[in-house]
Amino acid sequence: MTSFEEVPGRDKRLFTPGPITTSPTVKQAMLRDVGSRDTEFIATVRDIRRRLVAVGEASEDEYTCILMQGSGTCGLESVVASTIPPDGKLLVAVNGAYGQRVVTMTRMLGIAVEALEFAEDQPIDPAAVADTLAADGAITHVCVTHCETTTGIMNPLQAIGEVVAEAGKVFFVDAMSCFGAVRTNLADCRVDYLVSSANKCIQGLPGFSFILAKLASLKATGGWARSLTMDLLAQYEGLEANGQFRFTPPTSSLLAFHQALLELEAEGGVAARARRYEENFRVLTEGMTAMGFRPYLKPEHMGHIITTFHYPDDPAFDFEQFYHRLSDRGYVIYPGKLTQAACFRIGNIGHIFAADVRALLGAIRQTVCDMNITTLKTTPSQ
Ligand SMILES: *Cc1c(COP(=O)(O)O)cnc(C)c1O
Repeated sequence: MTSFEEVPGRDKRLFTPGPITTSPTVKQAMLRDVGSRDTEFIATVRDIRRRLVAVGEASEDEYTCILMQGSGTCGLESVVASTIPPDGKLLVAVNGAYGQRVVTMTRMLGIAVEALEFAEDQPIDPAAVADTLAADGAITHVCVTHCETTTGIMNPLQAIGEVVAEAGKVFFVDAMSCFGAVRTNLADCRVDYLVSSANKCIQGLPGFSFILAKLASLKATGGWARSLTMDLLAQYEGLEANGQFRFTPPTSSLLAFHQALLELEAEGGVAARARRYEENFRVLTEGMTAMGFRPYLKPEHMGHIITTFHYPDDPAFDFEQFYHRLSDRGYVIYPGKLTQAACFRIGNIGHIFAADVRALLGAIRQTVCDMNITTLKTTPSQ
């Protein structure tokens, strides 16, 4: 794999948390008509499910993979709506907007839910989760976001998983933004359900999410689904029975995703992808900091998926203008989502390389000059 420059068509480079920039070969894999009930497609779906269990370092005796039509949030909603019994209660450990979204969906489904809230710049504290579980015996399930994309903070998955398992509760993980680029051993992290989607670190196109489920937990959920289309156990049973989706699958997106999984393997798997994103992250933060932009998180809390920066303290800075000027130059960044601070985000994930990040930094320097943001330094440091 080389730099973005070789991609034909010259789409803008996406420095976002998804949809992300994909390789030309992933895009090309979509350009086909395949029957959703044909043997070739069924074999592709089977191979995708098998490979995703392996990305989670798990065995197919213990874990399975269920593919669910829709966005990543649909995948989360299918877990919440299908795996909590009528008298169950979900504890969501929240340190950003994505955790908050799970609280909202659970409430809308009429399921008992409690939020354990942390500051947006602080990781979730496993001891506080343990205290809450000890104090409220009604809680049956616990949900945490692995990389909280609101800031890019990484939560300590394994330590939280151990606390949840010790208390005998079911553990859900929203690993949407980091699965495939952060080593995750499902069994070691005591995961019952982990959700991610096609268009994040596996580098596919949007259209579906996937749920890695512990078989023993999933098989105990019969009769609990509150939705027909998002019934997780029924989707699993359909895929197992004849290899097919119950309702129309996003065939082209699945073809692209299969190619993306082959490319993940060719790159050297999760460890190699993590190294590339870490390099993107390092080049980005060094370059931005050299200009005078301030990262929102303390260095020890920053993950390599997405990086949040404060707006510069300069009257000439206007995010909308900054965004559109960068977009006109071919670089798409991402607005902030924080409740407390004025920030924007830059993603380090997708088919982008250190050279692309350096090109983005060059475009940011030019934009800072064009906008007359004089409190920032625009002389290239390299
Ligand atoms: C992207 C993301 C989602 C939502 O995914 P959609 O595909 O937009 O529904 C949920 N959680 C996290 C942590 C994410 O990064």
